[in-house]
Amino acid sequence: MTRTAIVTGAARGIGAAVAQRLAADGHAVGVIDLDEAACADTVAAIADAGGRALAVGADVADSAAVAGAVSRVADELGAPTILVNNAGIIRDNLLFKMTEDDWDAVLSVHLRGAFLMSREVQKHQVEAGWGRIVNLSSTSALGNRGQANYAAAKAGMQGFTKTLAIELGRYGVTANAIAPGFIVTDMTRATAARIGVEFEQFVEFNAKEIPVGRPGHPGDIAAAAAFFCSAEAGFVSGQVLYVAGGPRA
Ligand code: NAP
Repeated sequence: MTRTAIVTGAARGIGAAVAQRLAADGHAVGVIDLDEAACADTVAAIADAGGRALAVGADVADSAAVAGAVSRVADELGAPTILVNNAGIIRDNLLFKMTEDDWDAVLSVHLRGAFLMSREVQKHQVEAGWGRIVNLSSTSALGNRGQANYAAAKAGMQGFTKTLAIELGRYGVTANAIAPGFIVTDMTRATAARIGVEFEQFVEFNAKEIPVGRPGHPGDIAAAAAFFCSAEAGFVSGQVLYVAGGPRA
C-alpha cells in the first residue's frame, strides 16, 4: 500500500538514501532539510526513478517550522504516516573543551527535533490507525570519546523510541531505532577533517575494526529503515537495531 513518508535531514547522506528507498518501495516522500534548495538532488533522484517527492525546508528543532512542514506535506502528498527522524549534527570535543552551545545544539537537533516531528506526525498516524516511526541512534550511544553531547543524544533517542512504542502501539503505530556504526557520509568526512586524517585513510582504519571488514554505506541503513517501515514489521516495536557490521563498531 502506498503511504506518505517524511524523512528529515534527507538532502544528503543516510537521509537521502532512506528517502530514495522509501520512494522505491512505493511511498510518496516529504524530503525535509534545513535548506529547501539542498533537497533538490534527492527529489530529482526520486522523480527520475518514477517516484513522488516534495522538498521542504525546515529546522526540525523549531516547532513552528515543524508544524508548517508537516502540514505542507499533508496538503501536497497526503497525510504522513511514516516518519524517519534522521536529521543530525555533530559538535565533537572532549568534555573539558565542550561549550554549552555545542551541547545544546546537538541535543536540540537530535532529541528536540525528533520530539517535535513525532508529536506533529503522530496526529496523522493516530487518525489513520497506522504508523511507523524510525529514529536514528548510533553506536555512539554506548559511549564514544569526544562525543559526550552526541552520545547522550543518541542514547536519549533509544529511550524516546521505546516510550513512543509503548504510548502509540494501541493506535497501530510502531517506533524503532537504528543505531548505525561507521557509515561513509559527509558526517564521517567531517570527523576525519577535524582530526586531520585523509578520509580514505580514516575509512580504512575504521573498516579494520569492523567484523564484516568494510565500512557501512547509506544504503545499509536504508534497507533496515525499509524493513521497519514495512507493513509486515507491525509486530516489531521499541527495538534498537545496530547496523554496524558487527555487534558494535
Ligand atoms: P549528514 O551527511 O551530515 O546529513 C545530515 C543532514 O541533516 C544534513 O543534510 C543536514 O543539513 C541535516 N540537518 C542538520 N540539522 C538539521 C536541522 N536542524 N533540521 C533539518 N535538517 C538538519 O549525516 P549522516 O551521516 O547522513 O547522518 C544521518 C543520521 O545518522 C544522523 O542522525 C547521524 O547522527 C546518524 N548517524 C550517522 C552515522 C555515520 O557514520 N555517518 C553513524 C551513526 C549515526 P545541513 O547540511 O544543512 O547541515
